[in-house]
Amino acid sequence: MPAPAANKAPLLDRSVAHLPGVGPAKAKILAEDLQIHTLGDLLYAYPFRYVDRTQFHRICDLVPSSGTIQVRGILTTLNVKGEGRAFRLVGRLRDDSGAALELVWFKGINVLQNIFIVGEEYIAYGPLQEFNGRLSITHPEMDLARNAPTTAEATFEPVYASTEKLNRRGLDARGRRKLIRTLFEQLLPQDLPEIIPDHLVRELRLESRHAALRNIHLPGSQAELDAAIRRLKYEELFLLQLRLLQLKVVREAQVAGYTFDRIGTIFNRFYSDFLPFALTNAQKRVLKEIRYDLGRGIQMNRLLQGDVGSGKTMVGLMTMLMALDNGFQACLMAPTEILAFQHYESITGYLAGMDLRVAFLSGNVKGKARRELLAALAAGDIDILLGTHALIEPTVVFKNLGLAIIDEQHRFGVEQRAKLWVKNKPYPPHVLVMTATPIPRTLAMTAYGDLDVSVIDELPPGRTPIETVHFTEHRRERVFGRIREEIAKGRQAYIVYPLIEENEKLDLLALEAAYEEMLHRFPRPDYQISVVHGKMKPDAKDQEMARFKDGQTQIMMATTVIEVGVNVPNATIMVIVHTERFGLSQLHQLRGRVGRGAEASYCILLSSVKLSKESRERIKIMTETTDGFKIAEADLRLRGPGMIDGTQQSGILQMRIADLAQDGVILAVARDHAKAILAQDPHLQRPEHASLSAHLEQFYKSVRGWGRIS
Ligand code: ADP
Ligand code: MG
Repeated sequence: MPAPAANKAPLLDRSVAHLPGVGPAKAKILAEDLQIHTLGDLLYAYPFRYVDRTQFHRICDLVPSSGTIQVRGILTTLNVKGEGRAFRLVGRLRDDSGAALELVWFKGINVLQNIFIVGEEYIAYGPLQEFNGRLSITHPEMDLARNAPTTAEATFEPVYASTEKLNRRGLDARGRRKLIRTLFEQLLPQDLPEIIPDHLVRELRLESRHAALRNIHLPGSQAELDAAIRRLKYEELFLLQLRLLQLKVVREAQVAGYTFDRIGTIFNRFYSDFLPFALTNAQKRVLKEIRYDLGRGIQMNRLLQGDVGSGKTMVGLMTMLMALDNGFQACLMAPTEILAFQHYESITGYLAGMDLRVAFLSGNVKGKARRELLAALAAGDIDILLGTHALIEPTVVFKNLGLAIIDEQHRFGVEQRAKLWVKNKPYPPHVLVMTATPIPRTLAMTAYGDLDVSVIDELPPGRTPIETVHFTEHRRERVFGRIREEIAKGRQAYIVYPLIEENEKLDLLALEAAYEEMLHRFPRPDYQISVVHGKMKPDAKDQEMARFKDGQTQIMMATTVIEVGVNVPNATIMVIVHTERFGLSQLHQLRGRVGRGAEASYCILLSSVKLSKESRERIKIMTETTDGFKIAEADLRLRGPGMIDGTQQSGILQMRIADLAQDGVILAVARDHAKAILAQDPHLQRPEHASLSAHLEQFYKSVRGWGRIS
């Protein structure tokens, strides 16, 4: 019979059903429960832990906290006991130490009592339990000692993710180990060719790919396991960085852009006559980076990171002036009406006297005003358009958009951003995305690995650091006292309440109750209180925000709607209620609303008395630092990469073995190597990169969303 076509495919592309011991039924469950379709999938599904089967416990040494244990001894008795739910098979295992341990089974009793042989030596393995003062293992894994793995076989047993269904089908830990052994019997070294260039393998003293993949599943010792982990982490990060940097190379080769080679009269006039302060060194550096980008004839795609208050708006504005000087329009899009309008106000303020045409567009600009604005925009009578996501609607047509800036970019979906790209022909506008959510370096290199990243790592001078303290609920009186003191000095206060969607109704009720209480403690007419939350109509919300901004109210009670960008320099105290319910980066964003003026500012973190370890750690970090990057690093450590704001959409952070919270050093090395290789051979066409190139193609073929990163 001719070999089926599938056998021509590379071994790792073949269905798991090709493996002896895997029929269609098992293949189906593997696919459904674990997304394991091919032999390659099986190979790349690494164990999540290992059991050291070289170590045996002495039964006489066991204590209730011994955990998962392995003992070796003679089965001295085996009896059925109890009735009903307590009906069970009980065995006793006695080892060299002279002590005995109870082994208990509640299921499969009939079968098991015929399998186990009293008087034989067994190895029992499982979690130790204490029941009525007696130590036992329930449903231990049992092996006849004479069948125990020899030293030639794995002594570290892998444990894989599994499901009830897989267990029932014999694909439990033991079944999976068997599959992997069978797979490795079939795999030849040429099925797993080396993909990392030779000089790197030598430089880093990496073991071969074949050895690493074998040892990640079937290590013979801790040392073998460590070497496999090291190689595979490097390989994963190296391939990822190569891919990301390659995308960038390709994009730069394909996406031509307008060359802004002129620093003209508009920029220069603004710089000499209107710039209200000296730029910080960080702002100057970033402007240089942007200017370089704009002069290359390639579309700019730059991410500008800078902590709250670091002065991103000015950098954005001056970039827009470069566009204007080269005869183009520019726009800036912000995620909320409040933020967009704030940009409009500050930018028209900065530009007053410059004779530039700046306009504002949101969903609330309607009717005649909107029609006129759109006509002026299309005619080129507007230089700078600021607004909300209304900007990306198809009816908004520019005459010649040269630059699009997106503020708080993580608030926008990838598709929304892509809509700005098509706002100009033949070349797309240059794109600058700004974010105040500091992203740890390792994440930025990955989630935004194909973007150019600029960082403003310096705050403008004259800011007084925010003093942050932690109070528990029963010290609320003190807190109200502090608010009164600040207001007596003519300052304003924020009080922030958590509002999460699942709990929205309750949270709103709580806010209402808190408002009643505040009216008592801060009675009119001496005090005026604003309330703002996400469920209010936008108009009402904006009105309340405006009253606070204008100083008509001294206290702003709000949910997290004030999180980003709102700028009221006179507000010098913020109280965060139920601090434990906020995430670290959210707390950092919130706190950034104070400390925006020259006055000393305070942030009081109120929490309940009882706190989880993690909450306590978060609060501690907040009281110790105001550095957004340090906070982001801590957040990454505490919550893992998938949860970090600004990266959720990225999907490429799911890694098999590397850990962005821990493997920063390997990542940096891998990225440098990837860069060096692409600098020599951008399309990986040299013979020494052939297997690397083939593997990359193959490996990322299936990964969705790659083209959409940025
Ligand atoms: P963010 O980076 O959070 O968007 P902004 O651009 O809103 O920060 O700037 C915060 C405040 O700092 C604004 O009031 C702005 O005018 C001021 N600012 C920006 N750059 C400087 C500077 N170089 N020197 C002094 N103040 C500055
Ligand atoms: Mg801003």
